[in-house]
Amino acid sequence: MKKLKLGHLYPKLLNIYGDIGNIITLKKRCEWRGIDLEIDEINVGDKISNHDIYFIGGGQDLQQIEVSKELQKHKEFLISERENMAVFLGICGGYQLLGHYYQPHNGEKLLGISLLDAYTIAGNKRFIGNVTVKSDFVEPNTLVGFENHSGLTYLEGDTEPIGTVVIGNGNNGKDKTEGARYKNVFGTYMHGSFLPKNPQFADYLIELALGSKPEPIEDNIEILTHNSLVGKKY
Ligand code: GLN
Repeated sequence: MKKLKLGHLYPKLLNIYGDIGNIITLKKRCEWRGIDLEIDEINVGDKISNHDIYFIGGGQDLQQIEVSKELQKHKEFLISERENMAVFLGICGGYQLLGHYYQPHNGEKLLGISLLDAYTIAGNKRFIGNVTVKSDFVEPNTLVGFENHSGLTYLEGDTEPIGTVVIGNGNNGKDKTEGARYKNVFGTYMHGSFLPKNPQFADYLIELALGSKPEPIEDNIEILTHNSLVGKKY
């Protein structure tokens, strides 16, 4: 049986908006293919060892402060994991901490771990609502989710968006970009949860982690559900 290891970063702190659904989706879509996905919870104070996939969920500014401090202890190791092409998925607050920093409305700048060449500054308006994105590296080439953030994220260097906003605000409500990708590091503002709504993206992450295309599985209901959400504003 093929085996993959997933490190779930700080689930006790970054666990709002049901982002655990991303972990459940990866677990089930591996299981349905006979792949054993071992999930390690990594909490404050824990050491971090090598994993094939890392996940970090969304959270409020307060919890991000504690995670930002803890992540600095592991920055060099996690950068080496990125260079070893480990897969990362960060959602919203977790996404922001995969960049260089997040500057909240009040208080200190929260340092990220610079896996993505991106930075975030809190905006005056909260972006809340459904999101549809056109993405050119998955099929179907649409991604759907739900955003709830005040942070405005800007991409630099070789870090590219995961897609172009069709409905919603995305990274900053200005440049029509949503999310970010550099090597096998991905971030998105899309809660929902993201992966259950976009099974093709879940399979893409599994493919990157495995190093080969996973065998297809019967996905009609999942894709029908995805398609029913494309272009929905409310
Ligand atoms: N606190 C961050 C913001 O408001 C992230 C929120 C989230 O994870 N949904 O932008």
